[in-house]
Amino acid sequence: MLEFFAGEAKTPDPALLKVMGNIGAQLGRVIERKRAEEHLRQAKDAAENASRAKSSFLANMSHELRTPLNAIIGFTRLVMRRAKDVLPLKQFENLEKILTSSEHLLSLINTILDLAKVEAGRMEVKAAQFALEPTIDICLRTVEPLVKSERVQLLKDVEGLPETVFTDQEKLKQILINLLSNAIKFTETGSVTLRARAVGDRIALAVADTGIGIPDAALTVIFEEFQQVDNSASRAHSGTGLGLAISHRLARMLGGDVAVESREGVGSTFTLTIPQRVEGALELQPSPKPSAPAMAAAPRTGSRLVLAIDDDPNVVYLLQENLSDAGYEVVGAPNAEEGLRKARALQPRAITLDIMMPGTDGWQVLHALKTDPLTREIPVILISIVDQKELGFHLGASDYIVKPFERESLIGALGRAAPNSERILVVDDDPNVVDLVRQLLDTEGCTIDWAPDGVAGLERIAQARPSVILLDLLMPGMDGLTFLDHLQADPVGRTIPVVVLTAASLNAADQGMLRERVRGLIDKQGLDRDALVREVRRALPLADNPAAEVTQ
Ligand code: ADP
Repeated sequence: MLEFFAGEAKTPDPALLKVMGNIGAQLGRVIERKRAEEHLRQAKDAAENASRAKSSFLANMSHELRTPLNAIIGFTRLVMRRAKDVLPLKQFENLEKILTSSEHLLSLINTILDLAKVEAGRMEVKAAQFALEPTIDICLRTVEPLVKSERVQLLKDVEGLPETVFTDQEKLKQILINLLSNAIKFTETGSVTLRARAVGDRIALAVADTGIGIPDAALTVIFEEFQQVDNSASRAHSGTGLGLAISHRLARMLGGDVAVESREGVGSTFTLTIPQRVEGALELQPSPKPSAPAMAAAPRTGSRLVLAIDDDPNVVYLLQENLSDAGYEVVGAPNAEEGLRKARALQPRAITLDIMMPGTDGWQVLHALKTDPLTREIPVILISIVDQKELGFHLGASDYIVKPFERESLIGALGRAAPNSERILVVDDDPNVVDLVRQLLDTEGCTIDWAPDGVAGLERIAQARPSVILLDLLMPGMDGLTFLDHLQADPVGRTIPVVVLTAASLNAADQGMLRERVRGLIDKQGLDRDALVREVRRALPLADNPAAEVTQ
């Protein structure tokens, strides 16, 4: 209601009353509109909050779901590996089914998490300069195993591309792999071709297939979440309907787009177009190579100790189980503080580090490890459920493994991260022996160094301390026994285990005398791999232990 007051009593003038009435009506409308706007704003805020809450719920949820799922996958793999020979075939196959289903579930959860991250604006573009064609090759290699039929060919058609581009490599790979896997999934015969061209200052990457094609009516909706041409429960192709939605959003983040052309029964072409140089991205420095040269010079040799910093005891247990028969000993640390303390005190050969930990997270731990002179040379392998390789390498990690980890990739990463940790010095005048030792120890991941006589051997040791010395007794110049005398007169030298390799048939007295001074004796005649590996292994665990009783 609106009331008007005048300074003195007046007889109401009809014209004035009308004007007043109009003003009242106008004001009422303005107020109404304001109220409506206020309502709308509140509704919008509420919707945005709800959307943010949903995304953050999904992100947290995915993390909570992935942790036990990783344990299921890890333990299933472990049982399969350990019990392969004793389990009835049927039961082994059942385990395979558990594994396949768990892996499928995990990939679904990962996709949902990705989408949630894009929606919540938590995904950043991290750009770097990198070579384009090798990246394309990686994508093709990644999807190669998906081609199940011999009637489908995977082809590459690349021409006139710039050598490098400046964009987010991981996102580019994710989009391409996604388009390629779709093309392979929906193609029964013919080909899937990845065609890449430069178009002005942009790159066009087209994935063309000769598959089932997409009906016109569906061409626009397939980019929406959960939209599939065949949405029925009985559909022939698995999938979530999220791949294209994510690819499309990622392409937009790179300043590009994904377009599609398709004819039913003929095939489809999805074309990703991105600028060669992405704007407004966080720039990453070129990542250091997985095995930084500093590591080779690290003084720590021989240790087989791996420190696992992870709050999940299941992960530590799985690491122990998977690494023990590869000759590693795993020590766990459930949090950042203990991890840093053990890294300093134990000087492990390598550290595996989880990223998502309560309290101090893995990134902070990595930073602390890499800035402490006592620990910065120790290679760190990040093991995480989130794939953030670039950031990991950027912060100085040697390698990055996504959970659930495969035993082989883990052992491979350890071998790469600390390649020279076992240097074996062969002191022998016969190059054939060195060659033989090299071949016999090939699979053990050792570096073999050679010195043709005692003097050269001592020089080598002064340059770099080997983990084990394989020593010949009969050599021209300084012979084996004199070499031993020199070595063991030196406080550092005497800690290096020596295994004597000899062709001279020793009498019992000589053998007894030698056994007192060295870790092992091997007859060069009929030198066999097992004996050699056994002796070298036996010598190794004490290699870092200054208290080792080399001389008695
Ligand atoms: P998903 O593959 O998990 O179902 P996508 O978002 O990647 O989800 O794809 C959505 C839908 O688009 C697919 O279900 C399929 O119907 C259609 N589609 C995508 N790529 C192709 C293709 N290369 N050929 C035919 N249909 C495709």
